[in-house]
Amino acid sequence: MLIPSQKMNHLGTESAFSVLAKAAKLSNEGKDIINLGIGQPDFKTPAHICESAIKAITDGNHGYTPANGILPLREAVCCDLEMRRGANINPDNVLIVPGGKVTMFFAIQIFGEPGTEIIYPDPGFPIYASAINYSGAKAVPLPLLEKNGFSFSADDLLALITDKTRLIIINSPANPTGGVTPKVEMDKLAKGLEAFPNVAIMSDEIYSRMLYDTAQHASMLAYPNLKDRVIILDGWSKTYAMTGWRLGYSVWPESLIEHATKLAINSHSCVNAPTQFAGIAALEGPQDAVDEMMAAFSKRRTVIVDALNNLPGFSCIMPGGAFYAFSNITQTGMTSMELQELLLNEAGVATIAGTSFGQYGEGYVRFSYANSTENILKALDRVKSIL
Ligand code: PLP
Repeated sequence: MLIPSQKMNHLGTESAFSVLAKAAKLSNEGKDIINLGIGQPDFKTPAHICESAIKAITDGNHGYTPANGILPLREAVCCDLEMRRGANINPDNVLIVPGGKVTMFFAIQIFGEPGTEIIYPDPGFPIYASAINYSGAKAVPLPLLEKNGFSFSADDLLALITDKTRLIIINSPANPTGGVTPKVEMDKLAKGLEAFPNVAIMSDEIYSRMLYDTAQHASMLAYPNLKDRVIILDGWSKTYAMTGWRLGYSVWPESLIEHATKLAINSHSCVNAPTQFAGIAALEGPQDAVDEMMAAFSKRRTVIVDALNNLPGFSCIMPGGAFYAFSNITQTGMTSMELQELLLNEAGVATIAGTSFGQYGEGYVRFSYANSTENILKALDRVKSIL
């Protein structure tokens, strides 16, 4: 009998992928499924980005690259960070990785071990808790509440820190709620962390360019007092509709970049070379496609939130960022999972139960608006008729 290690029992998963598989199965059986479960833009990667990857292949740029990524890409990342977040980052502190997820896995494995604690947002991206549990550390949830617009409160976060805390994870704009944490809370957090010099912070900023109305992104790169312990997670997946390319980057402080690079060498060696060239084209090329995508998301956001608020038992606050509406469903009398299953099986609408994002997600269902307005309206019509 094979005996996998104990730690495998602690690894969780991302239910979005199992809902996706279920929806695909129903679709293959001939059922008409509208997918509001998926967390990826329904737009094509802009042509000039694709062309630069094709050119890289035909030019012969298809071998191994340095483990931390090709220098022109890391330089392009630094220019972008300077332009958009006013940060002065050395390309030596940037690590190119195959997707945003890799940064969270590395950061959590660098700090997590039995006897330590890592604080993470709940509801939040499910891989945070999964990877923390896998590392052996105690996963300490920071509840994100609807009454606070699903933003975190710096005081609540700071109150969770103990002498065992090694890392805290924050995410704004957030998945699954679309919540945006205002700069005042970030300022408070940055100040408050001065009392805890041994605590690192990983700021998941993958939705930093997906903001609506007057919402603004407050980056953790803005705080010189935290320079030695901030890890930034970002990437191309969402902003440039490049989820399947697997391209992300992280910014690491001086004392951690070597650990992170070693993890890269031990796991994937480097990101595939043509994709890295595509990453340069994305950052340095025209940004109209990003603007057009955000204009479309902005319209759909109003459409979906209005339609959700018209469903019996549903109420949904307007998300400030990302492309998710996290609707309160407590008045339906069903649990999040019951409703997810009902909507998929009876209405042919794929959504994700709030509990897939942590215990504080009970009473909520996530609707992704990475689908056409027509499909969103059709889906919510169907939901209305079965409710
Ligand atoms: N962080 C958050 C908050 C996300 O929602 C996602 C993807 O859904 C990721 C990170 C991972 O991004 P990637 O697909 O680039 O690995």
